[in-house]
Amino acid sequence: MSRTVLITGGNRGIGLEIARALAAAGDKVVITHRTGEPPAGLLGVRCDVTDSAAVKAAVDEVQSLHGTIDVLVANAGITRDGLAALTPEDAFTSVLDTNLTGAYRAAKAVIPQMVSARRGRIVFVSSVMGFLGSAGQTNYAASKSGMLGLARSLAWEVGSRGITVNLVTPGLIETEMIDGVSDKRRKQLMDQTPLRRAGTAAEVAAVVRFLASEEASYVTGAAVPVGGGLAMGQ
Ligand code: NDP
Repeated sequence: MSRTVLITGGNRGIGLEIARALAAAGDKVVITHRTGEPPAGLLGVRCDVTDSAAVKAAVDEVQSLHGTIDVLVANAGITRDGLAALTPEDAFTSVLDTNLTGAYRAAKAVIPQMVSARRGRIVFVSSVMGFLGSAGQTNYAASKSGMLGLARSLAWEVGSRGITVNLVTPGLIETEMIDGVSDKRRKQLMDQTPLRRAGTAAEVAAVVRFLASEEASYVTGAAVPVGGGLAMGQ
């Protein structure tokens, strides 16, 4: 069955690989993008996840194009690093607004149609940093561990309607997001990573594809690590 999939922040990085993986599996995939054109071969809707009305409009547009959304992947995210005591408050609130509240907005907008359909898959792209914590990333780590509480609470709210809600918690993944990570920090992280390398967006996409699949029908409230063993057991 070809399902309708919405991926926030699917125009590049991990979101784009998830979009490609699900499109290759035969799904009707729509990605959100803030500027420019969507990547070739993918349908895009404009949406900034910090704007509730834009999120709702994007979800409505996808529903009118392709019908009920079967799969939501809340992937859009940013970093704005700095020591908590030395950075302005909006460095904290803007990251929370995008990563955590943005994921909440997307879930809130799709859940009514999933409840009516009595099926659905929601996958949040969190981060291992939500468990580990990271100096200079109070905002990011708080947003990512907040996604755990969000996902698990939603899992309770919608489970009886056949909807699953899960997270992936990637480790260090080669995308533009980690361009600014220093060699020293990379080495620290690799020293704690049994597989001794950064991951690829495609490796994250493969796990998301499973969580979004029919086969994952008895998996909900799970935080699935994709980090080469970084923070295993957390
Ligand atoms: P990128 O920086 O490559 O991509 C981020 C994506 O999020 C872009 O598509 C971007 O859109 C989108 N985005 C950012 N802010 C908004 C917004 N306000 N509204 C809509 N879209 C937005 O990063 P990654 O692909 O690496 O990150 C994807 C997710 O994976 C993030 O949630 C990140 O936290 C998480 N992650 C990444 C890890 C890594 O090591 N790379 C590790 C763990 C988790 P635009 O092009 O318009 O900016």
